[in-house]
Amino acid sequence: MKNMLIGDQWVGASDGRTLSVVSPSNGQAFDEIPRGTAHDVDRAVQAARASLTGPWGQLNAMERGRIMMRIAQKVLDHEEELAQIEAKDTGKPLSTARNDIKVLARYFEFYAGGADKLHGETIPFLNGHQVSLLREPLGVTAHIIPWNYPAQMLGRTVAPALAMGNGTVLKPAEDTSLSALRFAELALEAGLPAGALNIVTGLGEEVGAALSGHPGIDFISFTGSNEVGTLIQQAAAKNAVKCVLELGGKSPQIVFDDVDVERAVPIIVRAIVQNAGQTCTAGSRLLVQRSIYDTFVKRVAEAFAKVRVGTPEMDLDCGPVMNPAQHKRVQRYIDQAREQGIPVLAEGQIAADAPTTGHFVKPTLFGPVPRTAALACEEVFGPVLAAMPFEDEADAIALANGTEYGLLAAVWTENAGRLHRVAKSVKAGQVFMNCYGAGGGVELPFGGTKRSGHGREKGFLALEEVSTTKTLVHYHG
Ligand code: NAP
Ligand code: MG
Repeated sequence: MKNMLIGDQWVGASDGRTLSVVSPSNGQAFDEIPRGTAHDVDRAVQAARASLTGPWGQLNAMERGRIMMRIAQKVLDHEEELAQIEAKDTGKPLSTARNDIKVLARYFEFYAGGADKLHGETIPFLNGHQVSLLREPLGVTAHIIPWNYPAQMLGRTVAPALAMGNGTVLKPAEDTSLSALRFAELALEAGLPAGALNIVTGLGEEVGAALSGHPGIDFISFTGSNEVGTLIQQAAAKNAVKCVLELGGKSPQIVFDDVDVERAVPIIVRAIVQNAGQTCTAGSRLLVQRSIYDTFVKRVAEAFAKVRVGTPEMDLDCGPVMNPAQHKRVQRYIDQAREQGIPVLAEGQIAADAPTTGHFVKPTLFGPVPRTAALACEEVFGPVLAAMPFEDEADAIALANGTEYGLLAAVWTENAGRLHRVAKSVKAGQVFMNCYGAGGGVELPFGGTKRSGHGREKGFLALEEVSTTKTLVHYHG
């Protein structure tokens, strides 16, 4: 049984209730976490508020950066332990989990360096006046994260908020809270003052709703589904606070006839298979110019058929999907596409000795997928790739922009002019040209357009999201 962190106290839920922690690889419960309450959320928000006038709030930016650098080092010192926790909790392959922990450390390193580098400015104004802009923390920031990359998400959302001097409250996903709880122990050991980071575990409808609607918070960062994202924005509106929403995607890989096939194929397969397709930035649509559609898709199919799925210890290409609901959802998309007669071009294989009680799904490549099919428009959040032909540059852009999402896109062509024209015309927060960058890329501003959300995380822009300015006007005569 793990406890939650409120201030410097490790506590159970106020009413003592708990939730089981279940392994996606075999469906067995192996641990418990507190099922936090609205009362626990209230205490966590108060602890975060108190930190702003306590030792945490007294630190200057350089000192905050130093503590964050020590946290990054602690994470690296415990990389294997944290990776084992993460792999067991999420079912992902061990080598993927190890990378996730490195990225968590990298977020703290990057934002440690940023803590004292977001400078204000002076502004020319009336004679006799000196105007300067101060950068200040927002106050108490709330962070609600999903189960697909628990450790990375923690780093992505909490590290910039700490760098700017906020007091943070994190609600991890109910399915994957363990790495956050162990991380918090390490952060305190590294010298993070009490209340700077609070963690309340529990259910979205309980802890998540209480946190996002709490009148004591100044900001919400949310990553997850569009349905809950709308609730978060409503809650933020009630308290007139800002929110950053990172919602889903249906990101296109746009492949022209002069593509470097050898380079593109493995990257395209990885971009959808990685993390069993449970990546908001998964490259889930493969748009290929008709003149090479058959030959290119055949090459992708050959690579797809080699994909192997198994438990974390088997350390194959991907693991199970997260939970029974996700398993059902992904399988339903696959079954419906088959029923609609959409051809299956390739399937990966589930390891023969993978437990039958695990939530394993066969990675599946469909094509050609009709442009109006669910598979062409909706986020599956599983290892399912939809191939579709396009005619020319204009058609490629129309097709790429034809969903309600706009998170990532990739363009594959050796023609530099076309590369840049298409990249500029595609609606997305990030466009990769002859490469793909799902996950990682801590330095690169990231976020949605259209229904994929708003606001920016990662990179320096994230520091602006979690801070505010105060304009000082001084009359000196
Ligand atoms: P979700 O419900 O949106 O969960 C995201 C986070 O929000 C979790 O911490 C969740 O807590 C919390 N939450 C749930 N209901 C809430 C509420 N009423 N108020 C405040 N917080 C709440 O997503 P999910 O159920 O895990 O997954 C559903 C679908 O969302 C997936 O199939 C996928 O399509 C999409 N998804 C997208 C991303 C992404 O990165 N864009 C990530 C995950 C899922 P609990 O964990 O306790 O529910
Ligand atoms: Mg779990």
